[in-house]
Amino acid sequence: MEQKIYLDNNATTKVDSKVVSAMLPFFTELYENSGSSHLAGLTISEHLENATYTVSRAIGAKENEIIFTSGATEAINLALKGFKADPIQNLITASTEHKAILDTVDSLQIKGKKSIIIHVGSDGIINFDELKTALSKGSAIVSIMLSNNETGVLNDIKKIAGWVHEYESFLLCDATQAVGKIPVNVKDLGIDLMPFSAHKFHGPKGVGGLYISSKIKKYLRSQITGGGQQNNLRSGTLNIPGIIGMAKALEINQKNIEESTLKIKNLRDDLEFQLLKTEGCFVNGSLENRIFNTTNICFPQILSEKMILALKNISVSSGSACSAITSRPSHVLKEMGLSDKHALSSIRFSLSKFTTKEEIDYTAERIREIISAV
Ligand code: PLP
Repeated sequence: MEQKIYLDNNATTKVDSKVVSAMLPFFTELYENSGSSHLAGLTISEHLENATYTVSRAIGAKENEIIFTSGATEAINLALKGFKADPIQNLITASTEHKAILDTVDSLQIKGKKSIIIHVGSDGIINFDELKTALSKGSAIVSIMLSNNETGVLNDIKKIAGWVHEYESFLLCDATQAVGKIPVNVKDLGIDLMPFSAHKFHGPKGVGGLYISSKIKKYLRSQITGGGQQNNLRSGTLNIPGIIGMAKALEINQKNIEESTLKIKNLRDDLEFQLLKTEGCFVNGSLENRIFNTTNICFPQILSEKMILALKNISVSSGSACSAITSRPSHVLKEMGLSDKHALSSIRFSLSKFTTKEEIDYTAERIREIISAV
């Protein structure tokens, strides 16, 4: 098979052609600024309102609880740096969070906020006792992700939110790897702040958002000042084609969610079944609490960088989803207790609705060939 096989969908996804079609008029015909007061501008503003409705309903929020951003990284920065509730004493997060969270928490620590890092078990799930002890030390912003980008491990956010609120703290949940893939309802889960990014669910790059519960909106301060767009919380002309595309992607994914989930899960399980026949291989992270499109497998016989080179037209990933190419072992796998060798020999496969059975069979066969040649 010479054509490219893409199994790196946690890094980014192919934009759905229906999403592209929905976006196109907003470059060439409906290009006006949604902030302009002329009739054409008001028309764009109506399209924006409809898209905002779709995005907010897709996550169980109200329209005035969404701030559009350039993606999850910006949304995380806004949520953590812009949150100015006086009683907040601590920042609590987990050691396996994405670097967008960990590095932002680090930068706030320099400015005087105390951070507490919660550890995870070998299954990748956070240590609940540690979390409760940390919560008892005073009011905090707690940042725990929904689905891990490297292993797909899911945290029990509803349970965590219950404890966080009991201690009069606030929950930021990075749902970048979950929104558009699994049902996420912010109210049901008890989330206060939630970043997401369109390119993770077949939408365009460069657009995403932050859900901010109306109950705590008063605590949020803009990190980008200027024209006062989005109720002064994020200045700058809105990326209308991007927002339209994000809404369309969510609408499409929601329609076929059950069928698509089952198809992708079956393919993921099939790939895993075929690969685990290889001597010594094992899956990293919880098998039960995992998103359906991801598997992270350790092949102790070969370094992942070598495997990736040998796989040529098959795109998979080692280490973190979107950090620069690095041969340092993944902080997520290390935190789960893997040795450097095992962490450096692990590969993440992340599938999408475009993945086929032929691609899975071909990938499994190529990996078996590569390993038997070592
Ligand atoms: N959070 C998680 C869990 C991610 O997987 C990513 C990207 O991989 C991000 C945040 C950052 O997203 P973006 O690059 O769209 O800003």
